[in-house]
Amino acid sequence: MRAVTFQAPGEVRVDEKPDPTLGAADDALVRVEASGICGSDLHIFHGRVPVERGFTIGHEFVGTVLDAGADVERVAVGDRVLGCFHTACATCVACMRGDYHRCERGRTFGHGSKLGDLQGAQAELLLVPRANLTLRRVPAGMSDEVALFAGDVMGTGYHAVAHAGMRSGDSVAVLGLGPVGLCAVQAALAGGATKVFAIDSVDQRLAMAADFGAVPVHLTEEEPKRAVRAATEGRGVDVAVDAVGDPGPLEMAISLARDAGTVSGIGAYAGRGEVLLGLAWLKGLTLRLGLANVIAHVDRVLALIEAGKLDPSPLVTHHMKLDEAADAYALYDKREALKIVLTP
Ligand SMILES: [Zn+2]
Ligand SMILES: [Zn+2]
Repeated sequence: MRAVTFQAPGEVRVDEKPDPTLGAADDALVRVEASGICGSDLHIFHGRVPVERGFTIGHEFVGTVLDAGADVERVAVGDRVLGCFHTACATCVACMRGDYHRCERGRTFGHGSKLGDLQGAQAELLLVPRANLTLRRVPAGMSDEVALFAGDVMGTGYHAVAHAGMRSGDSVAVLGLGPVGLCAVQAALAGGATKVFAIDSVDQRLAMAADFGAVPVHLTEEEPKRAVRAATEGRGVDVAVDAVGDPGPLEMAISLARDAGTVSGIGAYAGRGEVLLGLAWLKGLTLRLGLANVIAHVDRVLALIEAGKLDPSPLVTHHMKLDEAADAYALYDKREALKIVLTP
C-alpha cells in the first residue's frame, strides 16, 4: 500500500509499505477513503514533534472496514466508518472515569513510537486497534470530508466549550480562527451561546466566523478587550477560549473572561509561559486545559453534524490526492489552506 511518511524536517513522501494485518481480536482493518492534514501534522513535518524516519503520519480518517477481529462488535466488515485520532483501552482508571484522552494505554495515530507506535492514516490502509471505541459508523448521507472532522477537529472545538461548562445563554470569545477555533465558534453557537466573539487577524477567517453567526473582532485593527467589554456591559465573556496555544492568547483570554468565568485552553501549549496569574486569581477564573476528549464527544458531535447544527464543510478548502502529499504539506505550511483532504 501507499503511505505518507515522515522523512526529515520539512520532508514527507509517499512510500510503498507492506499492507497491515489484524493482530489483536479487537483490531479492525480500514481502507482509508479520505484523510485530513491537521495542524498537529505540521508539528511533525517541522520536527517539533519527533517521529521516526519512515513512520506513516496522519490521524484523521474515514473509510470502509475491510476486516475485523472476533471481538469487534460495534462495526462490521463493509461499514463506512470514521476514526477518532487516538485509541483508548476502556479499562484503565482514566478510561473508567471517562477521561479517554488520558488513557494509560492510549495510542495516537501517526505520532511515532513515543505516542503509542501506531502507524498513521494518510495511507491506503490503516490498522485500527480498540476498534469498538475508536471507530464509529458514518451516518447515512454524511460526506467523507465532513465525517472526518468528528473524530478530531470538530471534536476538539466541541471540547473547548463543553469542557469549559458553557451553558445556553452564555457569551463566548474564541481566540484564533484556525480550524479548531472555527469549530469552537460553531460549537458555542450550537450550544446556545448568545454572543460569540471570534478574534483573529486573517480577514477570510473572520468573514467565515461571521458567516457562522459570530461577531468578528480583528486582533490588531480593533481592540478585542474593548470590543468585548463594550458588548457585555463591561463585564467580559462567560467563556474565553484560547485556540492558539500560546501564553499571549491565553493571557488575552484571561483578560476577556468575566469575573468567575472560565478560560478554556485548547491549543497545544509547550514548555513554560508567562501570563497574568494574579489577574486570573483576582477574577476567580476557572482554567480548563488539555487535549480534547474526542472519544467522549464523538457521538454527540456526529449527531449535531447530522442535525445540521454543526457544519465543518466550509473549512475544507483543498482536495488533493495521497500522491500529492509533499505538495499538500508545503501548501498547508504556507497557511494557505484550512483543511486539506487527501483521497487515494
Ligand atoms: Zn488532527
Ligand atoms: Zn484506558
